[in-house]
Amino acid sequence: MKAAVFHDKEQLIVQDVAMPTLEDGEVLLQIEACNVCGTDMRIYYHGHHNIKPPRVLGHEFVGRVVESKAPNANVKVGDRVVMYIVLSCGECKYCRAGRENLCSNRTTMAYNYDGAFAEFMKVPAKAVSRGQLFKVREDMPSEHLALAEPLGCVINAHGKNRLEIGLKDTVAVIGSGPIGIMHALVARASGAQKVFMLDVNQARLDQMAQFDIDGTILVNKDGSHYATSQELTDGFGFDVVIVAASVASAQADALEIAGKGGRVEFFGGLPKSNPISTLNANHVHYKELRISGSFSEKMSDFQAAKALIEGGRFPSDKIVTHELPLARITEAFGLMQSGEALKVCIRPQQ
Ligand SMILES: [Zn+2]
Ligand SMILES: [Zn+2]
Repeated sequence: MKAAVFHDKEQLIVQDVAMPTLEDGEVLLQIEACNVCGTDMRIYYHGHHNIKPPRVLGHEFVGRVVESKAPNANVKVGDRVVMYIVLSCGECKYCRAGRENLCSNRTTMAYNYDGAFAEFMKVPAKAVSRGQLFKVREDMPSEHLALAEPLGCVINAHGKNRLEIGLKDTVAVIGSGPIGIMHALVARASGAQKVFMLDVNQARLDQMAQFDIDGTILVNKDGSHYATSQELTDGFGFDVVIVAASVASAQADALEIAGKGGRVEFFGGLPKSNPISTLNANHVHYKELRISGSFSEKMSDFQAAKALIEGGRFPSDKIVTHELPLARITEAFGLMQSGEALKVCIRPQQ
């Protein structure tokens, strides 16, 4: 079968690999679609400390069960499924607290096991027996359903005792890529009073008009976006600021445009080579800000994301803008980096 195998930095090779063979408890998926994630791009350009090549990448997928050695599983041959991709130990302090995304012993599909930029993908027995495969609607495009994975990561930041956005909140999202858009849409779905998106790129902001948000703010070197943020919030600053850009200056900006008592979310990290951010800590002090981070997702976040997408009101079609056959996978990175595409779907069967 064909698979996109990561060998080294900038060496993602579409090649013939052996068809996976199943052990007891495992399930084989034929992959319909696997969307490209920002993480795939980072791995391609910089490598990843948890990935030992050769490794098949791809973790945002929809597939159909074509073979099963798990007779007691909740899915059977013929079922069309998505997967919660975190394999947690179930026993460590974090698993016991219901935060399996933080598991001390976690492994993950496409990092520790081969992923879904391939015609077929094997699902580990542990994930099958824990019910991490979920049947999906037959009448919805696979590239839309595959958004459940990144959307679940977004929802992880929004839950109880996390951002908890509601009717009283004005929200700013810094970064207008697919993740930023999903944050804005989840904020809207949570009832936010106003949702604005910020970016350094006006062309990308212009594209945001198609989404259900209240407006956009261009991030300027001269800092004029601080004043604009004040104006748009009656002088108070935003109640919630979400940073969906891997840039230290965006984190600093978040503290500037947050209002008193604001909640600030640093979603995602900075480049491993330079993870240090310079922040005005007095904003945290005088404005009593709360800063949170988030990593990956819990199974309940994934399920909530799947339900939101299958509900049919989520504008998945505007987020997945392009599709390519597997052989042209590296072209997807350029399309997404230039902003020409928001998210690209890879078709492993083509
Ligand atoms: Zn992803
Ligand atoms: Zn654990």
